[in-house]
Amino acid sequence: MSETSPRLRTELEGIPTYKPGKPAAAGGPVAYKLSSNENPYPPLPGVMESVTAAALSFNRYPDMACTGLMCELAERFGVPESHIATGTGSVGVAQQLVQATSGPGDEVIYAWRSFEAYPIITQVSGATSVQVPLTPGDVHDLDAMADAITDRTRLIFVCNPNNPTGTVVRRAELERFLDRVPRDVLVVLDEAYREFIRDIEVPDGVELYRERPNVCVLRTFSKAYGLAGLRVGFAIAHEPVAAALRKTAVPFGVSQLAQEAAIASLRAEDELLGRVGSLVCERTRVLEALRAQGWTVPETQANFVWLRLGERTTDFAAACEQAGVVVRPFAGEGVRVTIGETEANDIFMKVAEDFHRDL
Ligand SMILES: *Cc1c(COP(=O)(O)O)cnc(C)c1O
Repeated sequence: MSETSPRLRTELEGIPTYKPGKPAAAGGPVAYKLSSNENPYPPLPGVMESVTAAALSFNRYPDMACTGLMCELAERFGVPESHIATGTGSVGVAQQLVQATSGPGDEVIYAWRSFEAYPIITQVSGATSVQVPLTPGDVHDLDAMADAITDRTRLIFVCNPNNPTGTVVRRAELERFLDRVPRDVLVVLDEAYREFIRDIEVPDGVELYRERPNVCVLRTFSKAYGLAGLRVGFAIAHEPVAAALRKTAVPFGVSQLAQEAAIASLRAEDELLGRVGSLVCERTRVLEALRAQGWTVPETQANFVWLRLGERTTDFAAACEQAGVVVRPFAGEGVRVTIGETEANDIFMKVAEDFHRDL
């Protein structure tokens, strides 16, 4: 009798595993985690209070429709509630979008290197990834992406700013690109780092969505709002895309703790965006220091910087870890380093300085 196991979909073979940023080493002298683009600030007291209050009733299912949060978001962005869909982080919503649009034989286009979740969620749905290389300056090559569209294309991700390079696409080029995309192809503007953008030429995806029924905007509470551990993100999209997101949602996916924290965070937006401002100042400080040390660093509009280290990537990551900061290496390509606490940034800059001197 031959050994058998339950039959699994062949599409699952060879799916790359998502590599979470390594946790900060325990037991070392200092240990900072600069590997997952998280917000280094602890939860605001008011947000914490709303979560602890919600914790008193976690024997109950959450509000499946996220009524309170939907209402806040609709007001905050000036869009109808029917155009909003919440999910378990914006990665969860991105997966629903692929599931809702693409299956075997269909193509999903995105830049590469970009967010590592894109190949995974595309392959899970059975669709084919079409990866369009970034330009030599590590920016989305929108012309090449438009050229890659075929009649099998169903969805295109534009990660703006791009993870892990931090680079952006600006209004004129993005509009020209959108003009070239057929109306029946969904363009997903992944704006996980929107709040960190200071370049006024970068368009707000929500403005682009208003005029274009095939544009969907993804936002998250994980980065600027500091709720990465609670898993809540959302999309703003026209019908029928928003309706498709409601159909593909896992029932009760967003916990009540996450819903209450998100609502409290929107109400504490001024304070949270003040923190974002401090991180943006740190970003400038880090970027200027690295360039003064002699590094070529792409202009970043996110809460991280990208060092294209090629073969030296793993050595650099090891040197950082030795010094007390954990960064995110992409072997053979480069390292992505989150802008964190001032002390953590200082350690990283010192490692970078020593490393560059020895190059
Ligand atoms: C961090 C990140 C997200 C957000 O992930 P969540 O699931 O909302 O925590 C989405 N897109 C990109 C490009 C990211 O870097």
